[in-house]
Amino acid sequence: MPLYDYDLITIGAGSGGVRASRRAAAMGAKAAIVENLRTGGTCVMRGCVPKKLLVYAGHFADDFEDSGGYGWERVDPGFDWPALIKAKNKELDRLEAVYHRILGEAGVEEVFATATLADPHTVEVDGKSLTTKTLLVATGGWPMMPDIPGIEHVITSNEALDLHELPDRIAIIGGGYIAVEFAGIFNSLGARVTEIIRAPQILRGFDDDVRDMLAGEMEKKGIDIRRETVVEEITKEGNKSGGAFSLKLKGGGTIAADRVMYATGRAPNTKGMGLGEAGVELDGKGAVRVDEFSRASVDNIYAIGDVTERMNLTPVAIAEAEAMVRTAFGGQPTALDYANVPSAVFSQPPIGTVGLTEAEAHVEAGAGGGIDVYVSRFTPMKFTLSGRDEKSMMKLIVERKTGRVLGCHMVGMDAPEIIQGFAVALRTGATKADFDATIGIHPTAGEEFFTLREKREDLGRGEA
Ligand code: NDP
Repeated sequence: MPLYDYDLITIGAGSGGVRASRRAAAMGAKAAIVENLRTGGTCVMRGCVPKKLLVYAGHFADDFEDSGGYGWERVDPGFDWPALIKAKNKELDRLEAVYHRILGEAGVEEVFATATLADPHTVEVDGKSLTTKTLLVATGGWPMMPDIPGIEHVITSNEALDLHELPDRIAIIGGGYIAVEFAGIFNSLGARVTEIIRAPQILRGFDDDVRDMLAGEMEKKGIDIRRETVVEEITKEGNKSGGAFSLKLKGGGTIAADRVMYATGRAPNTKGMGLGEAGVELDGKGAVRVDEFSRASVDNIYAIGDVTERMNLTPVAIAEAEAMVRTAFGGQPTALDYANVPSAVFSQPPIGTVGLTEAEAHVEAGAGGGIDVYVSRFTPMKFTLSGRDEKSMMKLIVERKTGRVLGCHMVGMDAPEIIQGFAVALRTGATKADFDATIGIHPTAGEEFFTLREKREDLGRGEA
């Protein structure tokens, strides 16, 4: 008679939790996974996937416009938001079914309930106690909002993906990934977008040239970015369906909108789960504290993905899952290397980035002789005939002493696809000389990374 019902119970069926459960089961573990929303989690059901489908929808608006320059007769098609949402939901249903199937085929038992911990080895679900040798917390995060009067009227990215109608005017509060991506989506689909940020610029933490470039391009597309602006109160006005709202600003002034969306960060999903009571240490934001092997402060408990607030990206959660299974079930303690993880912002135009920002590189290379910076701005070939006023930017940051490329950034069409490949180069320590010696593919945008010859003057952007 085994000591426990399961070898592994995972709480949270998002990308990380599903991968860990499947892998553990494949290694012979008896595994169950508990989920209280949809199998697939944030990325597949409420984030990356539906977001990107909506980004694609927005691109058609530009393509219809650009086609005129290529000899197509003027097309002015209508746009049907409910049809888009219906098609997107159908795709999510398909993906959810795929997740159920792969979990089933792997022999992982799915439990649809909310889990709480009775003790480090016992999970309570629907009044039943399930015991497990190893517990994995992969519960992700949830949108976080400031507590201001009227906050009950606002939506988050969760609801923005399922609105019944496209708003005429939307105010988006926040300057992070989610805010700029949704500003691009709504703007491209025809809404008037005001993005309200409390900082002087969007996308804190990104390279300054990248931030400035994207903000400029967003503004050219008609997005009204209100900088250093704080919303104090939201009031509902009139009876318009969906609502019309007035946003009172600190220091005076108001902004009117038909929808108000907050994208002011996400908090780890650990509240009320009984983790603290079971002895699991959490940080001030509620994230599970883990060591390099994703082990929590209680021996048999692990945590991966957004709930640990290390690097909140789906491929990172999946890599953490693989490492966790090797550690807990494969007898090979495996830590993840977080250096040179590429990421993208699916803004319009998008960003692709890998490695250090200029400010970070100054700090890292500073004492050792500094850095050289190469920047190129150009009009993508596609827009030469269409006349679209949109530029791309590429930037390389090079350690002067060694020639090693420390950072590779791009804003512009196809940036995420292009930067993905450069992540291999940075990971393997490529130098500027390696870039220079590489022959590009012509005519592409990516080849520009191999022809950057002029060092940019030092703009004093060393202060992080
Ligand atoms: P971020 O942490 O990236 O950004 C939060 C934004 O909200 C910042 O601009 C911040 O401003 C602002 N903010 C925070 N609190 C307040 C407040 N009280 N009032 C006004 N503004 C406020 O969070 P997101 O929600 O955009 O994204 C969450 C995470 O999800 C990201 O960190 C990312 O890892 C992940 N993600 C990744 C994507 C991708 O890879 N493409 C896409 C979407 C999400 P300030 O800068 O001044 O602090």
